[in-house]
Amino acid sequence: MNQKIVKVISNLNKNNMAGYFVDSRTELFALLSSLIAADSTVGCGDSVTLEETGVFEFLRRGNYTFLDKFNPTLSREEKNKLYLENFSVDTFITGSNAITMDGKIFNIDGNGSRVAPMLYGPKQVIVVVGVNKLTADAESAIKRTRQIAAPMDAKRLGKSTPCTSLNRCIDCSHKQRICNDFVLITGQFIKGRIKVILVNEKLGY
Ligand code: SF4
Repeated sequence: MNQKIVKVISNLNKNNMAGYFVDSRTELFALLSSLIAADSTVGCGDSVTLEETGVFEFLRRGNYTFLDKFNPTLSREEKNKLYLENFSVDTFITGSNAITMDGKIFNIDGNGSRVAPMLYGPKQVIVVVGVNKLTADAESAIKRTRQIAAPMDAKRLGKSTPCTSLNRCIDCSHKQRICNDFVLITGQFIKGRIKVILVNEKLGY
């Protein structure tokens, strides 16, 4: 583990969260198996990282009650209901836009369904991120997310916001704007409720 990883894990711990490092996807699945109890309920946030690593598939195949927001048979109404159910799951799992070196978690969200259960509700929150998501501080986390992640995400979601053609954020007021919530998690009351797993590869954006 390099000094940068040691430092960010130490700072997450100082902020009453927990930091982990895995070197491979095999290690990631072993860690998830140890953190998520069998037969428990698991909700998730939208995440390219979780898709790329196969975590969503791992949860679908595992011995969990997985609230799968990607189930194509869900109606809009059923999906909204699932978003509310995410507040009472045993584990909420998601990616993140950035983890700062001083051990904070930053995300931009559109309707809040990803960031809200991170803040309150689930017994534990597991955040899986590639080491490419590490940033020096909150300021660079916001800059990185607005200028790199959000335009790519808007494209992925098929939005027609200005960033999808400009490849940069102009802080638009477009009706499809996906950047409505800027959330910096700086600590927790309950020690270890939020667990950040750093994966030793470039994941998501
Ligand atoms: S604020 Fe608008 S332009 Fe900027 S990234 Fe978000 S959707 Fe794109």
